[in-house]
Amino acid sequence: MSEKLSFVSPTANSPWGTYLSQVDRVVPYLGPLARWVETLKRPKRALIVDVPIEMDDGRIAHYEGYRVQHNMSRGPGKGGVRFHPDVTLEEVMALSAWMTIKTAAVNLPYGGAKGGIRVDPKKLSQNELEKITRRYTSEIGIIIGPHTDIPAPDVNTNGQIMAWMMDTYSMNTGGTATGVVTGKPLHLGGSLGRVKATGRGVFVTGREAARRLGMDLRGARIAVQGFGNVGSVAAELFAEAGAKIVAVQDHTGTIVNSNGLDLATLIPIANKDGVIAFKGGDVVPNDAFWDTACDILIPAALEGQITAERAQKTTAKLVLEGANGPTVPTADDILAERGVLVVPDVICNAGGVTVSYFEWVQDFSSFFWDEDEINVRLDRIMMNALNQIWDTADKHKITLRTATYAVACERILMARQERGLYP
Ligand code: NAD
Repeated sequence: MSEKLSFVSPTANSPWGTYLSQVDRVVPYLGPLARWVETLKRPKRALIVDVPIEMDDGRIAHYEGYRVQHNMSRGPGKGGVRFHPDVTLEEVMALSAWMTIKTAAVNLPYGGAKGGIRVDPKKLSQNELEKITRRYTSEIGIIIGPHTDIPAPDVNTNGQIMAWMMDTYSMNTGGTATGVVTGKPLHLGGSLGRVKATGRGVFVTGREAARRLGMDLRGARIAVQGFGNVGSVAAELFAEAGAKIVAVQDHTGTIVNSNGLDLATLIPIANKDGVIAFKGGDVVPNDAFWDTACDILIPAALEGQITAERAQKTTAKLVLEGANGPTVPTADDILAERGVLVVPDVICNAGGVTVSYFEWVQDFSSFFWDEDEINVRLDRIMMNALNQIWDTADKHKITLRTATYAVACERILMARQERGLYP
């Protein structure tokens, strides 16, 4: 009955195509709520903006920016902002949809949104980065706000960029709206524990999955793709629990060390010059990363990284999706057939949005919690969500991903049904 979307042509393994196939797989478990499922297959609102800035050399450069609000049935839109040369409307749509599923899966009172600018920020000066951030914020200012849609950091964005976004929105609206973004610096209404929250959530869900598999974390070998905010923090926490980080890949290349990489030395070097500048491991071709002998694989870079071929050759028994959408649907099937357990992105990396929620609540109440309180609450929310999803997976004999979608989609579509269709 519904017309196809005209502005996107998803392929099987493209981010939006991957998302649609994940939704299709859950339909048999939705019962009567299935009549609302089309709601999930199109964004509520998608804004494309022109972002012109004057560069340091006097040229006027134009960039394309996006903010997509996928679904707001359960609350305001929530989701990060990505600065990357490959960002497209389709990618942002998929990322916004995964936020809808994620916030529902951990039962936060939010919908899903996402934003981005098609730009390589590494090629901008600090002055240009501030200008592009402020102009973009001003352009999307007509649809974001503390009660409507709350951005946060994602790939290549950080606390400083959130501070500029908060300031720009506040200047345009005539107040100080700390609750308009999360992931802010601490003295601007940020929350303790936010920077490490996503990596911590990957660790919490991974520790529980390993326990249920009977895998001892002490001595477990871990390969991590993407060594930024999510990958490096998750690696640190697993190493503290006794695991060995045997392979790390970032945009500069891949390093391996079967005895375990020394993270205390690696992390500052990787932050500055990339992992291949580190001398405590062997540099290998990027493809070799997927062959590395390991027990746990943590994709924490970009979408579409675990292809069918890579799923076939990984030696991991457990995959923890730190990144959003790292596994294409065909690879998902191969991993399931091979008995590899996948903790899906929409639960595994939900620690970031959970502490973003804590930050937002603290901003509204102007009362700030200590870090122990944050981490205890984060642990509890992630464990409750994971246990419920695990029970659903056991009950229906389905993968953790389909179980997560079943739990999340039921919450979203129930809210949709109870709100009713306006007019
Ligand atoms: P980041 O910018 O801090 O780090 C990204 C890392 O990926 C860097 O190490 C970079 O070198 C690496 N990378 C980029 N392109 C690569 C390539 N082609 N091959 C290998 N490595 C590559 O970003 P982040 O915040 O750590 O986000 C990583 C992933 O986690 C993304 O999928 C993001 O959407 C997801 N995520 C982030 C958060 C968060 O709170 N930051 C929350 C949930 C999910």
